[in-house]
Amino acid sequence: MIYLDYSATTPVNREVLESFYKVSIDYPANANSLHKLGRESFHLMEAATNQVANLLGVLKEEVIFTSGATESNNLAILGTVLKYKSRGKHILTTKLEHSSILDTMDYLKNNGFEIEYLNILENGMVDLEDLKRKVRNDTVLVSINHVNSEIGLSQDVNKIGEILQKYPKVIFHVDGTQAIGKIKVNLDNIDLYSFSAHKIYGLKGVGCLIKKKHIELEPIIHGGKSQTIYRSGTPCVALYVSLAKALKLALENLDNKYEYVLKLNQKLKKNLETMKGIYINSNENSIPHILNISILGIKPETLMHSLAEEDIYISTKTACSYDNSMSESVYEFTKNKEKAKTSVRISLSYLTVDKEIDIFLKVLEKQIEELRLKKGEY
Ligand code: PMP
Repeated sequence: MIYLDYSATTPVNREVLESFYKVSIDYPANANSLHKLGRESFHLMEAATNQVANLLGVLKEEVIFTSGATESNNLAILGTVLKYKSRGKHILTTKLEHSSILDTMDYLKNNGFEIEYLNILENGMVDLEDLKRKVRNDTVLVSINHVNSEIGLSQDVNKIGEILQKYPKVIFHVDGTQAIGKIKVNLDNIDLYSFSAHKIYGLKGVGCLIKKKHIELEPIIHGGKSQTIYRSGTPCVALYVSLAKALKLALENLDNKYEYVLKLNQKLKKNLETMKGIYINSNENSIPHILNISILGIKPETLMHSLAEEDIYISTKTACSYDNSMSESVYEFTKNKEKAKTSVRISLSYLTVDKEIDIFLKVLEKQIEELRLKKGEY
């Protein structure tokens, strides 16, 4: 198998899975039970929370475990607008966001909120002048992804956070799901930061929202305290421990892993550039882990399925979109419908080996030729 879909999800790291297994067996009690066994689970949960906080340079009380980034994003957005409804109903975001942000924004729009989308410059970066122009006294939230999941565009969230410091009433949320464990993350100017364990070789079903101490949120899941007041239900200590472990491992040797993936990306790009009808959508502002290309005249789904026949896996749009229409992100960035309709995402990892790139390139070239021949294009 050649797996080139690491941005959809990653295989779980064995050590992470073992930590989940061990904690599930050794710590059976509810962390909210007041007896001795419960206290043991509670202390382990506290240790996992501390570990995440230390790894990210935040306080223990700023860590909220969730079921994943979708929940983190929903809690960040809905929790903010509900808590600070007296401040206004204006929200700024971008068209480059993941569906868990865009759909939540649509929901809010249908419920009386005003959502404005910031301009994206030709280089894929958020137009900071547009941000300064659009931010208002009644702006309650700005939500911008750190790294876009389809093109890999990496925004300067620190600069954006710095600009927003002048507007202390505006809360700044960043979806860091595709950034964490791949690039350095500095949370100094960010109020809320979302991520998921399964993108960093952790388990599916657990994520995190970093919520700075000065920010309050309205819980969106009610029913008594759990790990925090923001998410009721019996805490799953084993999942939290596994997330802490995954995060620790993901942050180790970050620079070396980045350089390695960069080399793979350069090789891939260099070869793809020589193939007829292929446009590389990712640019110099994209992280090397994500390479988005458009193959004009070829339906992405057809190519994805024929590659899968050869046990090679890539993505069309993100795994989370449910329709087959064009990619919103690629359209927003390229303003080209044809490119947006024919884009695919190849995503790399430090686990990817050189040979896999060679085989992928060979098979891809052959399949594109066959698909074009079938359409009578040659
Ligand atoms: N945000 C981004 C940028 C993502 O890529 C994803 C997953 N594709 C999510 C949020 C949602 O994450 P989860 O699957 O953990 O809910």
